[in-house]
Amino acid sequence: MTSFSDLGLSPEVLQAVIDAGYDTPTPIQAQAIPVALAGRDVLGIAQTGTGKTAAFTLPMIDRLAAGRSKARMPRSLVIAPTRELADQVAASFEKYAKGRNLSWALLIGGVSFADQERKLDRGVDVLIATPGRLLDHFERGKLLLTGVQIMVVDEADRMLDMGFIPDIERIFKLTPAKKQTLFFSATMPPEITRLTAQFLNEPVRIEASRPATTGENISQFLARIPSSDPAAKRMALRALVERADVKNGIVFCNRKSEVDVVAKSLKQHGFDAAAIHGDLDQSVRTRTLENFRKGELRLLVASDVAARGLDIPDVSHVFNFDVPHHADDYVHRIGRTGRAGRSGQTFMIITPADSRGLDKVLKLIGKAPAEVVLDLDFSQARSEPRGRERDRGRGQGRSEPRDAPRAEAPAQDTPPAMAPKPVPPPSPAPPAPRKERAAARPRPEPAPESQARGPRERDDDGSVVGFGADTPAFLMRAPPRPSVAAQDD
Ligand code: AMP
Repeated sequence: MTSFSDLGLSPEVLQAVIDAGYDTPTPIQAQAIPVALAGRDVLGIAQTGTGKTAAFTLPMIDRLAAGRSKARMPRSLVIAPTRELADQVAASFEKYAKGRNLSWALLIGGVSFADQERKLDRGVDVLIATPGRLLDHFERGKLLLTGVQIMVVDEADRMLDMGFIPDIERIFKLTPAKKQTLFFSATMPPEITRLTAQFLNEPVRIEASRPATTGENISQFLARIPSSDPAAKRMALRALVERADVKNGIVFCNRKSEVDVVAKSLKQHGFDAAAIHGDLDQSVRTRTLENFRKGELRLLVASDVAARGLDIPDVSHVFNFDVPHHADDYVHRIGRTGRAGRSGQTFMIITPADSRGLDKVLKLIGKAPAEVVLDLDFSQARSEPRGRERDRGRGQGRSEPRDAPRAEAPAQDTPPAMAPKPVPPPSPAPPAPRKERAAARPRPEPAPESQARGPRERDDDGSVVGFGADTPAFLMRAPPRPSVAAQDD
């Protein structure tokens, strides 16, 4: 097995690696570091969690060891799509370049121009920036990119999603043609391929294996609900969160506005949740993320863009509140759990409006996750006056989820790790399954609607039906229909 000392790094950087506690290079590090040290361009197809940040940071530190920066002319440039990601890259330089005479500056929105300009004026070896802020500084005449010897583009496909490609092209053109480029993207859509063909010089292509999309340690589930109403989806989400053994989880929504609504709704229902998306103040985003990292926040409700690239170790659950617009995002989302060999569970809520998006995800992952059946009366999702829940929430404190059914009696066959749940009624009939899923997994006859919503009864085998051996234990028994489950914010 390759060791860090085989890669050609300096003793100082090797020491920093040891201090960081790493024993062995990850595959992308083992392949990219020698190539980058040799001064060649790298096209790294790797996503977060593969160790790609160190794969470019470590060789850069050594390559920048000789030479001095000039005022307003950074010697290297790292472009990242989001502030958080740029922040993480900066933290990486701070960690690995400790004790080295290497200066860096971070140009991101939400930080005062004056502070950033002061640093630039002094001259920096590494400039880490989001594209917009970088160009703002350039246009103010505070920055020259003609001294850039190494340019890193991180998460290029995310830049594409965010509409940054024209900015990236412009930045490339502002830097010297003769420079080293280290370019990273999790996927290679045609626009990204075109960009690399135009601006990279005979790059060495390195592909790091994707996070385990079908990995043993990530259990993926779908939760079909009969309504596309967002209130019904929020109700389903609460039931999933309540019934799973969630240590900490990320709830993904497709839109920022939805992120806000879902986070607010979860809070109103007593869950410990907070939102993170690009429209929030930087200080709020940083604080939320920090709380989540420290384990002081249980549920992070996020947009793909905000969560992209965030290094959050050890997330027990991922909830896809929405089926992602891009199937690739599903892979990114679920890759937030099941890291470093830990186990994780992911749930995606599917409404009748999601069939196309779901097809794309299933095609990409090449398998049909097991389905869980939620025994909820979705017709009630909006039946309460909207003000009432809020009033109740204020008056009674929020320590318990409103729709969190409490166990009435321990279920005999519930594993110890799971909260005991009372016996469920059979579930409402799910929409007709797609062909391949139906073939993959036998389904029981759906229960008639009246039975599904009728008085609580034990099903034939005493459990929720339809999963086979994959059934998450907490769903083997569903809770009673909660008296307040119908309420939403
Ligand atoms: P990244 O893909 O760059 O976001 O890195 C993901 C995580 O892996 C970060 O928490 C790094 O600190 C960690 N990491 C990077 N390289 C190694 C390594 N060689 N061994 C163990 N952990 C690593």
